[in-house]
Amino acid sequence: MRAARLIEFNKIAVMEESDPSKPKEWEVLVRIKTAGICGTDIHGYEGSHGAIKPPRIMGHELAGEVEDIGQDVTSVKKGDRVVIDPVLSCGKCFTCRQGRNNICSTVKCIGVAVDGGFCDFIKMPAENVFKFPVSIPWEEAALMEPFSIAAQICERSGIKPGEKAVVVGSGPIGLCVLQAFKRIEAQVLMVDVVDSRLKLANELGADETINSKKESFDKKVYDFTEGEGAQLVVEAVGHPALLEQALKVTAPGARIVVIGFNENPAKIPEVEITKKELEIRGSRLNRHKFPEVIKWFEKREVNPQALISAVYPLEDIDKAFKDIKKDPENICKVVIKY
Ligand SMILES: [Zn+2]
Ligand SMILES: [Zn+2]
Repeated sequence: MRAARLIEFNKIAVMEESDPSKPKEWEVLVRIKTAGICGTDIHGYEGSHGAIKPPRIMGHELAGEVEDIGQDVTSVKKGDRVVIDPVLSCGKCFTCRQGRNNICSTVKCIGVAVDGGFCDFIKMPAENVFKFPVSIPWEEAALMEPFSIAAQICERSGIKPGEKAVVVGSGPIGLCVLQAFKRIEAQVLMVDVVDSRLKLANELGADETINSKKESFDKKVYDFTEGEGAQLVVEAVGHPALLEQALKVTAPGARIVVIGFNENPAKIPEVEITKKELEIRGSRLNRHKFPEVIKWFEKREVNPQALISAVYPLEDIDKAFKDIKKDPENICKVVIKY
């Protein structure tokens, strides 16, 4: 099979490797058809992601066709179109027993801590493989994983119809969150410093947008919330300064959802949290969200196509990474087609 390995930082080479062995009883062998390139992959590529080191095969936003199944697998069969949930958990620890497998004490995301799907075949436990209908095109199916992140953020945020939410960051994840929030008819203010992203946010139904480099973020949030402050903020960039800024514009009782992996501390005065009884909630990967996301795609409740900026063949994956790095402002999501 072809495998695109990060052979050194800033260099991915497509090489010929041996095909994987037959799937074990509980496993499914998937022939990958499309894969999305994520911000995590970009960090891995340039060497700024602690867990991704050469010679890793990255890639965790994956769709493909079932090539073979283990003898105990009944959920899918050869030829099915499937999407892969990249979250691998132990199933035994305290959090797994609570059903919160995405924060398993030994959770692993494929393409990060173990090899992923920038290659022709991958073997996954059957519980990580979900069938989707032919009506969903391959390119779009690669975007189910980022939408699963948005579905998890919906759950963690407790967003309700009609509620006003502020989403800081209008990159691919922010724009998936926007669509997930609009799906349930919440009102959304999208924030970014890049106009092209805000234009896309507008097209995808944002109620308000603000370029926080050009306008006052605080004023905009208070205008948007009729002076009351934000009830819900999603910090979808992962920068401590933005978390500090977000906290300042919250209403009493607000929820703040964070998804970043930044290791630098944010300066947050305890009094602000206490006084307003703020809830700061983390959201990580996804917890069994794929069946739900497949329905969103099937019913056309979200528009994944709008996020796809370009499609590259697997052979050109290194060029795809270089092009994204060259023009991050105008490239939203890149899909690799095998
Ligand atoms: Zn991702
Ligand atoms: Zn576990």
